[in-house]
Amino acid sequence: MIDRDLLHRLNARERERFAADHPRSAELFRRAGEHMPHGVPMSWMAKWPGDFPVFVTDASGAHFTDADGLEYVDFCLGDTGAMAGHSPSPTVRAVTKSLPHGITTMLPSAAAIDVSTELAGRFGLPHWQFTLTATDANRHAIRYARALTGRGKVVVHDFCYHGSVDEAFATRDQDGHTVNRRSNIGPPVDTAQTTIVVPFNDIEALDGALATGEVACVLIEPALTNIGIVLPEPGYHDAVRELCTRHGALLIIDETHTICAGPGGYTAAHGLSPDLLVIGKAIGGGIPCGTFGMSAEVAARVEKVVALEDIDVGGIGGTLAGNALSMTAMAATLGSVLTEEAFERMIPLGERWADGVRAGIDAHGVPWHVTRLGCRAEYGFSATLPRDGADAAAADDFELQQFVHLYALNRRILLTPFHNMALMCPATTEADVDAHTAVFDQCLAELTA
Ligand code: PMP
Repeated sequence: MIDRDLLHRLNARERERFAADHPRSAELFRRAGEHMPHGVPMSWMAKWPGDFPVFVTDASGAHFTDADGLEYVDFCLGDTGAMAGHSPSPTVRAVTKSLPHGITTMLPSAAAIDVSTELAGRFGLPHWQFTLTATDANRHAIRYARALTGRGKVVVHDFCYHGSVDEAFATRDQDGHTVNRRSNIGPPVDTAQTTIVVPFNDIEALDGALATGEVACVLIEPALTNIGIVLPEPGYHDAVRELCTRHGALLIIDETHTICAGPGGYTAAHGLSPDLLVIGKAIGGGIPCGTFGMSAEVAARVEKVVALEDIDVGGIGGTLAGNALSMTAMAATLGSVLTEEAFERMIPLGERWADGVRAGIDAHGVPWHVTRLGCRAEYGFSATLPRDGADAAAADDFELQQFVHLYALNRRILLTPFHNMALMCPATTEADVDAHTAVFDQCLAELTA
């Protein structure tokens, strides 16, 4: 459908344009390369489109400015870390007030009471513990699940992402056996020993995995969001809950991204009942945070298996976890930024973004689709909606993806890298969304000329 020669030519043109527009970022990138591999503080930051990343000098609300003085509409929002908008005023005010009074003490502050109470109300789980990343919250939830069940394996969805959790870097071979995912760097053990991978929306496969009797927990996003958006089919989550209960495995729902479905994430929006729930990123307004909630039953069982004498060296914890800075940031962000009213504005903007993309797809007749979950939306390079992660992965086209991202970036729009996703924050406007719609239409016009 897409003329590959034309795509190469357009890509080359956009790369030249990018280089010409960003001399300051290019110079910073050159200097950054002297002491950081790939010129970036974390290796995956090298995967942005263009020959180097833009260096940011200022970010506020739904916009940011780069070192060359160019201003962008930001639909990436730190891949959800800035879903509250960049530097939201209530969070900045609360954090600024708290900073001179100590940042980390290894003692609790009263803000923790506000945050745990708020989380219990939103997600329906009564007991909460805090980390600095969602990755750590997932790791801790898995450890508790293993401790409580006396079993070793974790079930995950094919093409999931839950942070740098060792067990989750697995996929399925042609026979459905669990194997290491292609990108798995230095796995501590073969994931076949720790993990069973099942396709999203596949109740039979999940039943088979749980019937082995080896599974401690099922760790899932309620909708996949890291291989494009893949939505659950009707009845899927009822079946997941029922199977976990029947086979004695704990259900851990990772809401780190699916908080886009509403103030209590997909869990509250659809009445799910996990045993544990993980979230991080967005709820700190950009300040590092993570947390996991537990049902009353899980919390009571945890208390029985963990002895106070050993509680500091059990593999659960972190010196900076629960520090005053991140607790204050979460209290303010949950209390005053990512509120119910904010979602009432953000979700219609997500619909508007998806409608704009659909109009472009229809107008230019490309065999692409658009999906949405609350205030998060995404387009993919296949005509039909993916049913599972492998479907979504099969529609991937790296060169095309790099091109659409660079085309948008050169016209001052940032999409989430690694796929074609956009997220709305409380500060996003209809004008921001319409700017994307216009650029997307123009991009398709050139691609199909
Ligand atoms: N869970 C999900 C669903 C995620 O998408 C991510 C990161 N993209 C994480 C957990 C990990 O978050 P962090 O990098 O803050 O540890």
